[in-house]
Amino acid sequence: MFNFDFYNPTRVLFGVDRIADIGKNIPENARVLITYGGGSAKKYGTLDEVQAALGDRVTFEFGGIEVNPHLDTLMKAVDIIKENNIDFLLAVGGGSVVDGTKFIAAAACYEGDIWPLWAARQPLTDALPLGCVMTLPATGSETNDVAVVTNTALGQKSGYSHPLLFPKFAVLDPTKTYTLPITQVANGVVDAFIHVVEQYLTYPVYGKVQDRFAEGLLLTLIEEGPKALSDPQNYDVRSAITWSATLALNGLIGVGVPQDWATHRIGHQLTALYGIDHAQTLTILLPALLQVQRDSKKQKLLQYAERVWNITAGDDDTRIDAAIAKTREFFELMGLKTQLSAHGHPKTAIDEILENLKRFNMLPMGEQQDIDLARAKEILTLSY
Ligand code: NAP
Ligand code: FE
Repeated sequence: MFNFDFYNPTRVLFGVDRIADIGKNIPENARVLITYGGGSAKKYGTLDEVQAALGDRVTFEFGGIEVNPHLDTLMKAVDIIKENNIDFLLAVGGGSVVDGTKFIAAAACYEGDIWPLWAARQPLTDALPLGCVMTLPATGSETNDVAVVTNTALGQKSGYSHPLLFPKFAVLDPTKTYTLPITQVANGVVDAFIHVVEQYLTYPVYGKVQDRFAEGLLLTLIEEGPKALSDPQNYDVRSAITWSATLALNGLIGVGVPQDWATHRIGHQLTALYGIDHAQTLTILLPALLQVQRDSKKQKLLQYAERVWNITAGDDDTRIDAAIAKTREFFELMGLKTQLSAHGHPKTAIDEILENLKRFNMLPMGEQQDIDLARAKEILTLSY
């Protein structure tokens, strides 16, 4: 196991009616900006519950944070913060709203254009405190310090992380997920699944605890994911999905072991260029990436085959093929496509994506930094 720091300061308020408890976690005299997305939080009454829980505090609202949040939109919130001396942010929505609010928290304390710092992953010196009410189990953004924002002028979707961006608290009420469209539920399950894979299916370093946690999360998502689609108001199922998504990316399973993230980093280009949902970029890329990286990931793929998919028959190659096929089948069972061509893009997309990877200096990537331009092309060609 590698040396590591484990730090996760976010308080989790899990369960039914926990929005009522947010007031205990926000200073009485705070001036609060409540941020939300395209309207689901308003439509389904979550914003009203939040307002009630905030009591007499001075509050402002900023709606309209789009999916894959845009820099330009988020900077409008920064203006409101500066004009009104706002000192606490409360995100109500999915990963896009929470990520966008983390960006706002950073940009509000930064003089000048923050994008160069963000894109170059330079450290922050200050950020406003934030809390969140997560309505979509998927990204893990509720208890991590990561945020992904798109600069549409540059066509750049860029992930960033800094400890100042950990939410102070996260409300996880599984009943808040009942109103999700089924595709978003599927996206969420699969995004969480692939977060685990990015930290687990890497070249092997002895990380027994991390492996067993990871396998537990994968098995839970495989078992509960389809039920979350067919039985949308099953509280136990939604609880399992919600907590799995959080644990998949709160730092726990990734410490001390190698992490890949190439699927995500290439996937961000597919969203930036073609607007494909985040999770669906991953279901396109992951089976192909595992195929191309099967030698360096061999030992872990064999462990994954046996412990997650119960595949024990056949030689090494047969078992690895079967594990990759099972992974693809799971994504398809969740109703998601696993080929880029199925989204209707011409084959020239491959070169456009490679161009972005070069333009934004994203290569090499992968846990062994062995995905160069040629290998990225191989992955994209196979995923097409
Ligand atoms: P999302 O983009 O936040 O939301 C997707 C859709 O779901 C929106 O249309 C939203 O509508 C709707 N929605 C959310 N909650 C709902 C509810 N309870 N009922 C009905 N509709 C609801 O989806 P996401 O998958 O959570 O976030 C994706 C973003 O997170 C991407 O930009 C991705 O790159 C990023 N990401 C971040 C991390 C991280 O660690 N920070 C990790 C992976 C991915 P409204 O807009 O109307 O609310
Ligand atoms: Fe993700």
